Amino acid sequence: MKEWRENSGMKNRWPAAYKIIDELEQAGFEAFVVGGAVRDFIRNAAVNDVDITTNATPLEVKALFPHTIDVGIEHGTVLVVLDEPIEVTTYRSETTYSDFRRPDGVTFVRNLKEDLQRRDFTINAMALTKEDELVDYFGGRQAIEEGIIQAVGNPQLRFSEDALRMLRAVRFSAQLNFSLEPHTFEAIRSLHVLITHVSIERVKVELEKIWLSDFSLKGMQLFVDSGLSRIFPGEWDKCLQSWDNFSSYNVKANGWAFFALMQSTEDIDQLLNYYKCSNDEKKHVKNVLQAVRSLVKGTWTADELFHFSEDVLIVSYHYGKSLLSNKINGSLEEFLIRKDTIPIASKKDIVVNGNDIMQWANKKRGAWIKEVLDILTSLIVNGQLKNDRQAIKGWFSHEYLQ
Ligand code: ATP
Ligand code: MG
Repeated sequence: MKEWRENSGMKNRWPAAYKIIDELEQAGFEAFVVGGAVRDFIRNAAVNDVDITTNATPLEVKALFPHTIDVGIEHGTVLVVLDEPIEVTTYRSETTYSDFRRPDGVTFVRNLKEDLQRRDFTINAMALTKEDELVDYFGGRQAIEEGIIQAVGNPQLRFSEDALRMLRAVRFSAQLNFSLEPHTFEAIRSLHVLITHVSIERVKVELEKIWLSDFSLKGMQLFVDSGLSRIFPGEWDKCLQSWDNFSSYNVKANGWAFFALMQSTEDIDQLLNYYKCSNDEKKHVKNVLQAVRSLVKGTWTADELFHFSEDVLIVSYHYGKSLLSNKINGSLEEFLIRKDTIPIASKKDIVVNGNDIMQWANKKRGAWIKEVLDILTSLIVNGQLKNDRQAIKGWFSHEYLQ
């Protein structure tokens, strides 16, 4: 066991990061792993990506490694590609902020503490040497032990510099199941209006991270309690507790579908346009809304079971149950079995096509073909016609054309 622990140092755990730090140190620079990777390592959780901070300038970094990619030299970031690409960023502090979102400029600094100081939360403001020694000026480790998200320095100041941090605080709290340190929470409550300076695309990203997290109720509760939700259209505080039953199935659009189900407005499209949802996302939400509506009316018909994908049926059933449980009958398993017994899974499975129908009718191509195929599909789906060439031809000549 002891041996395994010794072997599991940074050299084994993050070999590429280790090599980069080693190389920088040998050239006389300082370098550390920083940010999310340190936080998640201390939490004993899976680490997504490893970032490095160094006192070497971007040009100095580029000179040391044969394969680098410029991703944001003006912000001090170079991507160093060894076995995998790793972001190496020069120690920096941020200058004045005049738009409540982005610094007017960055200044490279030669001191690690200054770099850590500009970071958002104490849990994100630690560094790790290649020997796994923790550099923790702001009590990040203790905050992790206590499960607390606390701004580095004065929270009012930090949220006025960059308003996105308010939403990041809420998002981290949903991802980690941490609470907001009282001064940090109060600062968000008093400054929530500043969130208007953040682009809606960034807001969408953070909301979706909350929905994909393990504690979405916690995130949505804080989003509402902090006042942030009031800045954005939609009834965010309605059915708030229902987020407790929510599962995203790892699909961002499911968060929008669940949100849409809570709304009293008919114009969901307008709402989704505000949040810049894609056409695919809007289509998914529309399908779930339709599927839930039919289920609430009574049941899913064979046509509906055919039309909606299994994924849409599953989330619609669960979301419908958690938001409107008393109005939903039937078991999901039975619905899925019924869907499976439908002879075709898509229109492509029909053994005849538009050309066949054109030939049989001896008529030119036109919108009428789609109409025929739609009727045909429904007959097959409902078991009123066999998916068989002779049977379909017979129906078309003797019934449809009559
Ligand atoms: P995730 O696992 O979500 O990627 P992360 O902590 O790595 O979490 P990133 O957005 O990738 O988050 O940012 C990397 C680091 O940069 C953070 O840990 C934090 O130290 C710093 N940081 C990111 N965004 C901000 C910000 N808006 N203000 C201050 N510091 C920030
Ligand atoms: Mg990250």
